[in-house]
Parts: sequence; C-alpha cells; structure tokens
Amino acid sequence: MKRDQALEVFSRLLAAYGPQHWWPADSPFEVMLGAVLTQNTSWRNVERALDALKRLTRLEAAAILALDLATLAATLRPVGYFNVKAQRLRAFCTHYQTAGGFAGLGSLETEGLRLNLLSVHGIGPETADDMLLYAFERPVFVVDAYTRRLFGRLGLLAESQGYEQIRRTFETALDPDVALFKEYHALIVRHGKQVCRTRPQCPACPLRGVCPTPLSGRREPRAATD
Ligand code: SF4
Repeated sequence: MKRDQALEVFSRLLAAYGPQHWWPADSPFEVMLGAVLTQNTSWRNVERALDALKRLTRLEAAAILALDLATLAATLRPVGYFNVKAQRLRAFCTHYQTAGGFAGLGSLETEGLRLNLLSVHGIGPETADDMLLYAFERPVFVVDAYTRRLFGRLGLLAESQGYEQIRRTFETALDPDVALFKEYHALIVRHGKQVCRTRPQCPACPLRGVCPTPLSGRREPRAATD
C-alpha cells in the first residue's frame, strides 16, 4: 500500500464521519482495562462493566485485585465470558502493579513495551496495540477484523497477510503520527460497523470510486421478480 492510497482512504472516511474522539476513557489505565474487556463484545457492554467496576474500585489496580474472583466476574457479567475476562483482568492488574504502574511501563521503549504487554495472559497483538496507541500514545497501528475486511476489499491487503505484516504495511506507508493512527483506526471501525459490513452497503459508501470490489462500481442486478 502506498502512502497516497492510505491517506486517500483516511481523508474520505474522515470527511464522511468526522473525528471519532477515541478512546473514550478518563485515564490511561481505564483505556487498558477497556482494551482487555472489549474482546468479542460491544463497547456499550464494556461501558456497563467499567461503570460497575468503577463504583466498586474507582478503577484502581490494588482495589481490583482485592476483589474475590467471583465478585469480579459478577461485575464483568455485561461483557460476556466474564469468568475468563475476570482472570485476564486480574493477570493484567498484577502485571501492571509489578511493573511499576503506568510510569514503570511507560519508561519502556515501544518494542520492549509491546513484548512486555504481550507476555501477559490474555493479551494478544490487537489488545497490546490498543494499549500502546491509546494509553501510551505510541505510533503503533492497530489491526482488527474491520481493517482486514475493508483493506482486503479495497485491494490494498492480501487476505493471507498476518497481523504483523498488516501492521508494518500501515506503519511503513504512513508517518508515525499518533493522532493520525488513533483517528484512522477509529474511522475504520466506524466504517466497518456502519457501511462496509459483512454485506457491504456500497451505494452509501464514501469509498466508492477507489474501491475495486465489484459491488462498488455497478448497480445491483434487479431481482427476477422486479
Ligand atoms: S464500496 Fe463497498 S466493499 Fe468497497 S469499501 Fe465501500 S462498502 Fe466496502
């Protein structure tokens, strides 16, 4: 993917949807908790769980660790897989404290911090990169299913590319600009949920004209009964 292609898609999405104001949170630690909880659920459910957890713990790592596992799991019920996520949240909070909190983790250079986060139970590349970009403000491009689908349809990524390859593709094409990376990922998610869905809503798409997917450039065939 070339720089002008990546910027063209960004410009069109930004013009269509406007700034997305991500990541909605009151602190970097809340961003990190949200990144763990958002796996396989909607953000609305994450907000409900975080609100409940905030009432119990003020979102302090020590207070979360002081909860017994059953109470923590019950608090996380809105996000689904709440027993698994309770264990992951505990593992992350233990790691966060041991590492010296935000200051301790933040003292690491980006690649070292990435490896550090990936060493925590339940934190994969997308979750680690959410944290790196939105909590630690490092220029790391977050890749998710919406990114793969959209850029595959645009013909700018091969389906066979792995997470790291895709991340490097964006990070090579674009300047290492934290604000750009934050906005770009948020816009991709918005577009993937609203228009470039499993069944793409091509007639309403701001990327028509740059998208080679057959649906984008032609009329839908009329149904036999039309
Ligand atoms: S034209 Fe259709 S397939 Fe292409 S990006 Fe837009 S919604 Fe997705």
